[in-house]
Amino acid sequence: MEMREHLENIRAACAEHFQLYPCDRPNCPDCVGERRVLRLIDKALAACDDGGWRTMESAPEPGTVVLLYAPSYARRVVEAHRSINGKWWTMTGHHVKFPTHWQPLPMPPKEAPDA
Ligand SMILES: [Zn+2]
Repeated sequence: MEMREHLENIRAACAEHFQLYPCDRPNCPDCVGERRVLRLIDKALAACDDGGWRTMESAPEPGTVVLLYAPSYARRVVEAHRSINGKWWTMTGHHVKFPTHWQPLPMPPKEAPDA
């Protein structure tokens, strides 16, 4: 099943729970928590729509290898890491200027052989 379907199922289950068990306690911590979960699921769904790309503010620590999207770079999508001075570099040492988005490297395919 696609990630999007999993998220939509979780969202539907949460929303259904809300409908089945209406609550009118003011500032109920359970309801506040559940609404927060719904918002987080919506964010995850939005990220799915965008191919999982995130803006650079959330890019991980220097040294972590990620996928970058850099419109000015010839191949545009490239595997890269950030050095301590904040510059981004491909695995072959090319400087990637002005990346606008990043995402974690994907997991290997489920059926991937070990070697
Ligand atoms: Zn409640």
